[in-house]
Amino acid sequence: MIKYCPICNRSSDKFRFVGEFCEVCVADKMKKNIPDRIEIERCKSCGRIRAKEGYIQLDNGTLREAVKRSLGTKCEVKIVKQKEKSAVVNFHCEADYGYADFDKEIMLNFKKIMCIDCYRKTSGYYEALVQLRGVQQKADKAMSKITRYVEKNGAFISRIDETEHGIDIYISDKEMMNHFFQLYKMKPKRSFTLHGVKNGRRIYRNVYLLRFDKELTAD
Ligand SMILES: [Zn+2]
Ligand SMILES: [Zn+2]
Repeated sequence: MIKYCPICNRSSDKFRFVGEFCEVCVADKMKKNIPDRIEIERCKSCGRIRAKEGYIQLDNGTLREAVKRSLGTKCEVKIVKQKEKSAVVNFHCEADYGYADFDKEIMLNFKKIMCIDCYRKTSGYYEALVQLRGVQQKADKAMSKITRYVEKNGAFISRIDETEHGIDIYISDKEMMNHFFQLYKMKPKRSFTLHGVKNGRRIYRNVYLLRFDKELTAD
């Protein structure tokens, strides 16, 4: 028996029905209950957005998470199209007698903030100084290795000085640099400089000196 939607009169031989209503009307009703805009905190300097786990790059996957969380929806969401200030989002929602699928454009209200890393960067913050000396080719290779590692692990480089003596890299996280040297089995000469006193404890900066000779390899 052909059913007719009590709202729009569409028929069940041409449209899928969810309970007694056609899928179009069910989707329309759900669409209205979803907010038109959401707010996302975004660092004005690096462009990363604030998420549960910290600051992360904005891409299709992280935007999807942010949209889903902001909307507090139980529906499955997919980003169909990401624009500068909005996103077309596909919703797949379970209802009592079936499901509804629809797209809705959500305005993205990016609230400008500054993340802790950028704040530190602009203030020249660093915990570790890596000094690369000796064969330049090897020092360069080590520098790109360090740069990649630092970026991959969510830290930052606040300054790089290249002089006739070699390369000095100022890095935000000394624990991370310890892991780096362990991982690549490098044995830098370590020293410390007193940086200041915080809550009665002395804060040290780590200095790592790596000298590359002709015979030894950097890796
Ligand atoms: Zn209908
Ligand atoms: Zn930032």
